[in-house]
Amino acid sequence: MRGLLAGIHAFQRDAFGSQKALMERLVAEGQRPQIVLVSCSDSRVLPEMFTQAAPGGVFLVRNAGNIVPSPEAAQDAPGEAASIEFGVEVLGVRDVVVCGHTHCGAVEAILEPERIAGLPNLERWLLASQETGRIVRERYGHLRGERLMRVAVGEHVRVQLDHLSRLPFIARRIAAGELAIHGWVYDIRTGEVFVYDVDADEFRLLEP
Ligand code: ZN
Repeated sequence: MRGLLAGIHAFQRDAFGSQKALMERLVAEGQRPQIVLVSCSDSRVLPEMFTQAAPGGVFLVRNAGNIVPSPEAAQDAPGEAASIEFGVEVLGVRDVVVCGHTHCGAVEAILEPERIAGLPNLERWLLASQETGRIVRERYGHLRGERLMRVAVGEHVRVQLDHLSRLPFIARRIAAGELAIHGWVYDIRTGEVFVYDVDADEFRLLEP
């Protein structure tokens, strides 16, 4: 904690000055982010860092496991849908990204629920993406270790894209050609980003 407090002082002393004009403009004109990005809370995943986004660029929604509850589940857990709704309907964002990541503890826990025994809130929350576990068991039961995790993280993102696409305000805008949704996987070891290709039904490395 003490290191972070020192960081705040250093930021105010050394770094904020270069952002001051931008922040004044963002205050005066309001935010106009380019994307809504749903990320995991994992401290190793820093979307503004790996996209090199400036303040005002990314409207970020974070939770354990970058989950977008289905429209049915959103009845009881509307937080994610509310944030995405604000980004799309009020801020006019035209691209929504669900960004999973390698070595995701939430996906590990979905595959092996015994890892989170005794954590009732997390157990309930991860139920919002239990399809990930079912799909992985049905299709990838032959895989183990890191290979299993890689495909599981990708399938997990696809499940969230399905949930996202079924939110009524998202479905309406996609149908009208006003919105696109995207699936990414960020590799925390290499910094690479893999982008879901709908036609090929696979994640492809984002090339320069
Ligand atoms: Zn994670």
